[in-house]
Amino acid sequence: MQHQPTRFNCVGCGACCKGRFIPLTLLEARQWLERGHDVAILLEAFKQPHWPASEQEYQHSLLRSAQVSCGNTHVQVTAIFAANALAQCPNLQANDLCGIYKERPLVCRIYPMEINPFIELMPQNKDCPSDAWEHGEIIASDTGPESSLSSLIQVSRLSDRADARAKVAICNRLGINVAAWKADALVIQFPAREQLLQAINAEGATPEAGPQALGKWKLRVAQSPLSEALAHGELALDEAESVNYAFHALR
Ligand code: SF4
Ligand code: SF4
Repeated sequence: MQHQPTRFNCVGCGACCKGRFIPLTLLEARQWLERGHDVAILLEAFKQPHWPASEQEYQHSLLRSAQVSCGNTHVQVTAIFAANALAQCPNLQANDLCGIYKERPLVCRIYPMEINPFIELMPQNKDCPSDAWEHGEIIASDTGPESSLSSLIQVSRLSDRADARAKVAICNRLGINVAAWKADALVIQFPAREQLLQAINAEGATPEAGPQALGKWKLRVAQSPLSEALAHGELALDEAESVNYAFHALR
């Protein structure tokens, strides 16, 4: 069945610049920190057969993750470096326009399109007001995103893959070694700006090879059946009473 093409025209309301984390490539994270702003790290882990994704989705996630040691086995860890815009983006001006428009991150250029190929663009799930969808250029049709957006999405996906191991190695340099179970919860770390910048620069200057560069990891899970399944397996769970990260259950 053919769908109507999706038209979009940004009305500059600034809603997409508030109340969220903004995923960054490694280069963008360094630039963000150098501008004096904070970067959080969102951590998730997965492993077959415990994460029941389709083969295509599993392969997509595999490519943007790094294999690490966990208990007596291995898991895949994805470290998402993200600008902290939970209150609002520090670059959002009083007139709701972007203060670094020409240098804004890739995801800001791509929004409201989806980067994840397994998530369909649904205007009702986006922050853009209804009048943004009434006119404007066609941004997507049955053949996919229009070509300039498609190129940006491709760059974003390739950066995710290219940066995946280095981001996990940077976490290890910072002593960060707990990830949440994918689709179950998120572990969110808020490293000190200077320490994170130093770790990024050190990893860029002398990247460490070998599995020891990624460290030994533990998991945090929210849902008790999953907790039990994992606890009876070979995976290491983080059961520390006090934690130095935010833990956010997703269901
Ligand atoms: S960098 Fe600019 S476009 Fe991106 S969230 Fe911040 S203010 Fe918005
Ligand atoms: S929420 Fe949509 S319309 Fe508003 S600034 Fe962001 S992209 Fe533009």
